[in-house]
Amino acid sequence: MTGHVDAGKSTLMGRLLYELGRVDEKTRVANERGSSKAGKSSFSWAWELDGTIEERERGITMDIALQSLSTPQRQVTILDAPGHKDFIPNMISGAAQADCALLVVDAITGEFEAGFDRGGQTREHLLLVRSLGVSQVIVAVNKLDQVSLGSHDSASLSLPTWLQVNWDPSRFEEICGLLRAFLVQSGFPSSKTSFVPVSAMLGVNLVNNADASVLSKWYKGPTLVDLLDKLEPPTREIASPLRLPISNVFKGQNSGTGVTGRICGGVVQVGERLRVLPGDESAIVRLIDVEEQSVPWAAAGTNATLYLTSIDPIHLSIGSVLCPPSDIVPLATVFTARIIVFDIQLPITTGTSIELFHHSRDVPATISKLIATLDRASGVVTKKNPRVLSRGTSAEVEISLRVATLSGPTLSTRPIPLEPFSVNKDMGRILVRRGGETISVLFWTLSLEFKTVSQ
Ligand code: GDP
Repeated sequence: MTGHVDAGKSTLMGRLLYELGRVDEKTRVANERGSSKAGKSSFSWAWELDGTIEERERGITMDIALQSLSTPQRQVTILDAPGHKDFIPNMISGAAQADCALLVVDAITGEFEAGFDRGGQTREHLLLVRSLGVSQVIVAVNKLDQVSLGSHDSASLSLPTWLQVNWDPSRFEEICGLLRAFLVQSGFPSSKTSFVPVSAMLGVNLVNNADASVLSKWYKGPTLVDLLDKLEPPTREIASPLRLPISNVFKGQNSGTGVTGRICGGVVQVGERLRVLPGDESAIVRLIDVEEQSVPWAAAGTNATLYLTSIDPIHLSIGSVLCPPSDIVPLATVFTARIIVFDIQLPITTGTSIELFHHSRDVPATISKLIATLDRASGVVTKKNPRVLSRGTSAEVEISLRVATLSGPTLSTRPIPLEPFSVNKDMGRILVRRGGETISVLFWTLSLEFKTVSQ
């Protein structure tokens, strides 16, 4: 789930869980009290999700909240990825795990435009999500209850509900039109794109579109849950060797060290010995938990918690990959990658310093060579050895984990476990930022040629 800050993502998630019976009345009342005591009553639905004190005080979601829910046909895990610009790396790790994007947009006049304008987060997030390989998207056009009132907080206005309700169908159509064109341009197939008008705060059209609602007068289509129920199930790399990038490490109670992550290839079983990369260490799987249930095995596509023994926890770190000792992931320090350049201010040249993101890890790196520019659609080389790469270009470049230091360029000490995109999509996807805050370029590694593979 993604969208501009304040689009209503947390509210939508909190209300959806309530409508599906996942949040009981007692908790709802406690959330209402807690948020109102803090002078943030309009955040009452988001209170459930925005767990930390800082999040509650700032009224924004910073980490990725994970929530599971069941629709009649599907078991869905929703990752609430933060929309705030400072937290884009968190969003990247969320998007890298997703099978579908749920984009929440604020329909209020001026608010949608602010997020959608050039440089706005909505466009950036969509490009990012698509480039990470996600092709299905559901757009929840939110706050339609308030489209005529401007960007005020409806709760603090204390208007009667009937005055807050607008549900203008032409605003819904306008937003769909603008986004539809952009989504097609960004490579989302129109057959996999759907739009749904909702009010997260009032709980309209999430699970039901009650006959009495203003929306039901002009909208007879599916609800948000209907759309989640029709999602195409993803294909998983079950036949490939085990690949489990670690996204969290914690101390287990008497059962070893806990590591969590989404399995992006193969199957893991209790009792198995696994290699931890990078490094020479290995560990034994003592227990496996999936959704807080102990299971004997887990397969690709699952978010799993493994309790590992026979290893010093010091050797388990975020971004490391677990794999079978007989079929380890190659380690790369220099590699070539096919990239798509984002909407950047300054062009990329040889020697550009970058931050390289791979699963939950980021490492400093350099674009060491511009090999060729490519036709975006066909991938055919249009120019060899270009001097610069400007916005919108597709290109092949060499990336090295060499970083500039006072004493000259040195090789980063830890190589990254990486596989070509053609072998394992999840293991071959990397992403690049430049200059701290803003994502400048996005690298989709269609092909990886390992120039240096070292241990
Ligand atoms: P997030 O940053 O995307 O997670 O947004 P929040 O869920 O924190 O919501 C931001 C603000 O928008 C809060 O004041 C919510 O009460 C308000 N909001 C969320 N959904 C709706 C809605 O459907 N209608 C109206 N009128 N306000 C909403």
